[in-house]
Amino acid sequence: MKCLQDLSYNELEELVVDKGFPKFRAGQLYDLVNRHKEYEEATNLPKALIEDLKQEYFATSLEIVERLVGREGTEKYLYALRDGNVIEGVFMPHKYGNTLCVSTQVGCRMGCAFCASGLGGLVRNLTAGEILGQVLCVNRLQGGTPDKRAITNVVLMGSGEPLDNYQEVTKFLELLSAEKGINISLRNVSLSTSGIVPKIRELADSGLPVVLTISLHAATDDKRSALMPVNKAYPIAELIKAAKYYFDKTHRRVIFEYALVEGKNSDKKSADELADLLKGFPCHVNLINLNYVKEKGLRGIKGGYIKEFIDHLNKRGVSATLRHSMGNDIDGACGQLRVKYLAKHDKLNGTEGRDEA
Ligand code: SAH
Ligand code: SF4
Repeated sequence: MKCLQDLSYNELEELVVDKGFPKFRAGQLYDLVNRHKEYEEATNLPKALIEDLKQEYFATSLEIVERLVGREGTEKYLYALRDGNVIEGVFMPHKYGNTLCVSTQVGCRMGCAFCASGLGGLVRNLTAGEILGQVLCVNRLQGGTPDKRAITNVVLMGSGEPLDNYQEVTKFLELLSAEKGINISLRNVSLSTSGIVPKIRELADSGLPVVLTISLHAATDDKRSALMPVNKAYPIAELIKAAKYYFDKTHRRVIFEYALVEGKNSDKKSADELADLLKGFPCHVNLINLNYVKEKGLRGIKGGYIKEFIDHLNKRGVSATLRHSMGNDIDGACGQLRVKYLAKHDKLNGTEGRDEA
């Protein structure tokens, strides 16, 4: 079965005309889709059209099966996809608007040493409609409509490597920013990548004006390869060249994520290496203390030391701040809620979904 949330306005128009209905029905259908409504909630569409569509298309791509509310209004969701797979997301309210963190894959194949999302490997890519569905579903849950959005910012920092699902992710960005749709400006969207160099260059060339965030986590190849296997294919020198290319093309400051891991990348020498690597490049470093993931065993560092690390970077001329880690009271870190859910239902090891089909 396909899903209406995968279709652009033009594609919906073609679909209704193909089914023998006038073009204007596409507008009504698009409104239904962007409000994350089910067919049963349609009030203005002909029954015959709905019955026809139901044979081939789901109206929505997912639904929320678990909702956890944490400190400061943060919420965490577990969504069920139509094939029974589950993904997760985090909602973070701010003074200037509300941010939703979305997943781009079920699982991830990059195998980073600290991350819960990669534990069962990659199960499958999400479709553009499944990524958009997360935004539309939470927008509705939070009382928003396509005209009066409850979500203003989107970060691609949930499970999955967005640039390993390039085609669907870029289609999602187009659907998200479509004028007749929920119309979220891509300037308010951050895409976080572990560093797939050729795809960073392709994104720079695409003209999609998202903020690029690179998960760096170490400034020498030895240290980075030990934490992130992707570094063996695309070492740091190439990654920084691609980041500079992104900046030159888009004039948007690149953000580097750096999670402090005890005994791996958090000593003064590592801070110096980071400063040497980034000096002179207009970028910003977001530091975060590693969230402990039981299955991975790595730990963050003692609280007070983070400030010293940041001061050291600032003194060396690198712009760096501590990223406020919202939602870690409710398993806010990447992939942890899903892993718990799968463990509870005895479905880890990439078998989820298959027995629920
Ligand atoms: N795959 C992409 C986007 C999803 S991960 C990427 O790696 O960038 C989003 C962010 O969460 C990345 O910066 C990642 O390094 C970070 N992350 C993963 N596990 C973490 C953990 N246990 N503690 C803190 N940050 C973590
Ligand atoms: Fe995948 Fe990102 Fe997790 Fe690495 S940190 S395993 S790339 S989701």
